[in-house]
Amino acid sequence: MNYNINEKGYYGEFGGAWIPEMMFTNINELKTKYLDIIESETFKNEFDCLMKNYVGRPSPLYYASRISEHYGSKIYLKREDLNHTGSHKINNTIGQILLAHKLGKTRIIAETGAGQHGVATATVCALKGIKCIVYMGALDVSRQAPNVNKMKMLGAEVIPVNSGNKTLKDATNEAMRDWINNPEDTHYIIGSVVGPHPYPDMVARFQSVISAEIKNQLKEQTGNEYPARILACVGGGSNAAGAFYHFLDNKCVELIGVEAAGKGVDTHETAATLTVGTPGVLHSSKTYLMQNNDGQITEPYSISAGLDYPGIGPMHAHLFKTERAKYLTATDEEVLQAALLLTQKEGIIPALESAHALAALNKIKMNPDDVNIVNLSGSGNKDMATYMNWLAY
Ligand SMILES: *Cc1c(COP(=O)(O)O)cnc(C)c1O
Repeated sequence: MNYNINEKGYYGEFGGAWIPEMMFTNINELKTKYLDIIESETFKNEFDCLMKNYVGRPSPLYYASRISEHYGSKIYLKREDLNHTGSHKINNTIGQILLAHKLGKTRIIAETGAGQHGVATATVCALKGIKCIVYMGALDVSRQAPNVNKMKMLGAEVIPVNSGNKTLKDATNEAMRDWINNPEDTHYIIGSVVGPHPYPDMVARFQSVISAEIKNQLKEQTGNEYPARILACVGGGSNAAGAFYHFLDNKCVELIGVEAAGKGVDTHETAATLTVGTPGVLHSSKTYLMQNNDGQITEPYSISAGLDYPGIGPMHAHLFKTERAKYLTATDEEVLQAALLLTQKEGIIPALESAHALAALNKIKMNPDDVNIVNLSGSGNKDMATYMNWLAY
């Protein structure tokens, strides 16, 4: 079984580039050039240098003894929360800004929901002195003021989108429209392993630095580079793709993605795409998505803004269908409890997204000697208001 992308841009039956004809020029340029560029020595050197000196990599792999004792098995945390800007998203935006530069692009566009990807994009645009435009649903603009302020201070232009539900999906549609109208000078930085080929593969490669480091660090700390299992939260699926990447072909390593159940997978307030969704095409990719009987996308819900995407990357659709990876869910309440436990036992306040992976530790069977890796995708700094509201009642 092959778990990587094939030459047509598919993971099994999922993925591809289901693009409107007007986007052909943009996608074709990227598709024909991305591998040569990102596999070149000069690119690799620039990428590695920024990862080390700007992002602060390698991020630590930390043996968390107090929660290990609590769960009765060995828990290691991959500390993506310690990266510059507080999450794994910077790994991808650094890769794509370097690629855009090599393609001679002078203008960057991006979509953002909660604003995390918008901030990571505005950051690398400031770093490279490139013009940055971020599309964001008007509702999200009003809900996410701190991130909007950061993007503006970083010099990005934030354009509120008033169509549809005024959230992430609408912002994505608007960004695609912009790109179609500006194929010459503009690169579109997509924030996860979603969208048309080659984005899912390209973003997975940039994020794969996570599993490359895990292997080295495990070898150094335990003498064995293969853990029993790896857990990661899944929105679009980029931090999970990065944490799984170098372990895909080793079946001894159990791979577990954790989706946001929201208020419960049997309510309408959920974002657990693989659990409640069905196959279809969203944002130019064939994958699982949350849709009604007419094929219209339904609005997802999760306490963590970074996980409420109505689709999922095609790599995960394939890993799910072939049963190479398992996908569990965690509710808002389970996530808050798991976040509080980590905070008070290890002194680490996790992002709400990352706390989904922690919450799944209660739902799996682990032996005392198992080595379990939890990818701690981001920091809880951005979530303090939510945590305080919950603790207050
Ligand atoms: C955006 C985000 C996610 C979800 O995105 P993926 O592409 O699924 O990784 C997870 N964790 C954090 C901290 C995020 O900011």
